[in-house]
Amino acid sequence: MSQAEDIESVDEDGVIESVSGPVVTATDLDARMNDVVYVGDEGLMGEVIEIEGNLTTIQVYEETSGVGPGEPVQNTGEPLSVDLGPGMLDSIYDGVQRPLDVLEEKMGTAFLDRGVDAPGIDLEKEWEFTPEVEEGDAVEPGDVVGVVEETVTIDHKVMVPPDYEGGDVTAIEHGEFNVEETVVELDNGEEIQMHQEWPVREARPAGDKETPTEPLVTGQRVQDGLFPLAKGGTAAIPGPFGSGKTVTQQQLAKWSDADIVVYIGCGERGNEMTEVIEDFPELPDPQTGNPLMARTCLIANTSNMPVAARESCIYTGITIAEYYRDMGYDVALMADSTSRWAEAMREISSRLEEMPGEEGYPAYLAAALSEFYERAGKFQLMNGGEGSISVVGAVSPPGGDFSEPVTQNTLRIVKTFWALDADLAERRHFPSINWNESYSLYKDQLDPWWESNVAGDWADTRQWAVDILDEEDELQEIVQLVGKDALPEDQQLTMEIARYIREAWLQQNALHDVDTYCEPEKTYRMLGAIKTFNDEAFDALDAGVPVEEIQDVDAAPQLNRMGTAEEWEEFIDEIENDLKEQLRALY
Ligand code: ADP
Repeated sequence: MSQAEDIESVDEDGVIESVSGPVVTATDLDARMNDVVYVGDEGLMGEVIEIEGNLTTIQVYEETSGVGPGEPVQNTGEPLSVDLGPGMLDSIYDGVQRPLDVLEEKMGTAFLDRGVDAPGIDLEKEWEFTPEVEEGDAVEPGDVVGVVEETVTIDHKVMVPPDYEGGDVTAIEHGEFNVEETVVELDNGEEIQMHQEWPVREARPAGDKETPTEPLVTGQRVQDGLFPLAKGGTAAIPGPFGSGKTVTQQQLAKWSDADIVVYIGCGERGNEMTEVIEDFPELPDPQTGNPLMARTCLIANTSNMPVAARESCIYTGITIAEYYRDMGYDVALMADSTSRWAEAMREISSRLEEMPGEEGYPAYLAAALSEFYERAGKFQLMNGGEGSISVVGAVSPPGGDFSEPVTQNTLRIVKTFWALDADLAERRHFPSINWNESYSLYKDQLDPWWESNVAGDWADTRQWAVDILDEEDELQEIVQLVGKDALPEDQQLTMEIARYIREAWLQQNALHDVDTYCEPEKTYRMLGAIKTFNDEAFDALDAGVPVEEIQDVDAAPQLNRMGTAEEWEEFIDEIENDLKEQLRALY
């Protein structure tokens, strides 16, 4: 955030009238909606959310204990903005884009910060700027004028800000500069620096949204194989406590083939976020071998931070994502958890004594959620390029009840639904994504991609698996009544195949070095091996071999070891050969 420098220019001070948790009212403050203000003697950061006559209501992004009536409120006259520029990757921010390491230095501790301002990006650090335009070139808003090596993985494109007019380049620099120094001048007097500010509540402009046709490859079999997310798509992960939301989000952050990852830890328990903060900097990026943080920006707003900051961390995160999208990157944004943000809205709304909607959530809950997810998409960019933002929001329904308002409103918006299931988690079936309840509305539009990049019969193979799982689901009811042995032999065999689909294919151990990531080819081949078992087994059954003998062939349980097999191609070839040989030997 960078509104502090403007504070001198505004001399209209207000006075605090009342303080109610994160909500403060002030009188005599000359402000507009969404202006950023500094509250109290300590100058806590807040945002104007209601103006009624002479009374201004402010939500404060820092703890307000000890703040009282009579203290001053200063208006910056600026909306809540983020500072966008090189240095955001590899950073860990709090909800208002203050770098946690800088705060820690200033305060001696992260998480106990009040009234401390720190710029979102280092204003002194010098970056090597390499121009990509020449004097005399005409540039328009969004055009790239040069690049900076932001991290070992990512080139940061310096762009003409979207709110500039653009014009002909009259001067251009080459060399080391800090982000505040001008690197390009235009004939209309506009000067371009390596950073730009943008108000977080306003989507950065882009051209039309396109229909996404490429999957965000997650390396997780159940997601890629059954319920794929598009690059530029939206997904929700609802699940009760302990069902694996955080692990699933982290797996996506680690393994998905996005260029940039923005990870928002919103209101989750402090120790969980600490885990992320400690883990991520250690992790290598599977795509490049470089540190994962070289393409990641973490925003941490733990449950011990004030509730109002949950909202700002969501908006800060999506704005940072848009900025990298504008450079032409595919960005994946994870928000864990959107329920905590919704709870913050509920708390603020009730303090404002607004008319409550369903279960006390404000009536604008649905609008707020959809405004957030709406900022996802695959976009034509102002500069003619393409970029995407995929948004994955975790939802934590109390008691795992998906009928509650946050889950329901999210479901109306997102197109991929990964429903985590407490029963599966209890049975240690991970990822606990329920294959009967989950869905992806991107399936059809992504099939051509899988078929031309992985296997021509990708969609047919998936459909085969879905049919078997459906059949198992139906047979399950009978089995519960009369037992498995009462089923006809062909149905017993189908149950056995379904078991392998679940245990050998859908289950995937995030904690295992090899199994944690499964490339699409392997996902396809693993399912193919189970299908080979299916086809050979039914041939044997047709030839009169009893189902027990078919199930007992030595090669069958080897299917369970495919996920963890390092040399998986040889391993799967071998299983398929063994299955054929052993089953054919039975008749
Ligand atoms: P939540 O965020 O929903 O409360 P977590 O993501 O913390 O749940 O998961 C709880 C536990 O479940 C983890 O600590 C881990 O042991 C286990 N778990 C979840 N997903 C997986 C997975 N894909 N592979 C292995 N273990 C998992």
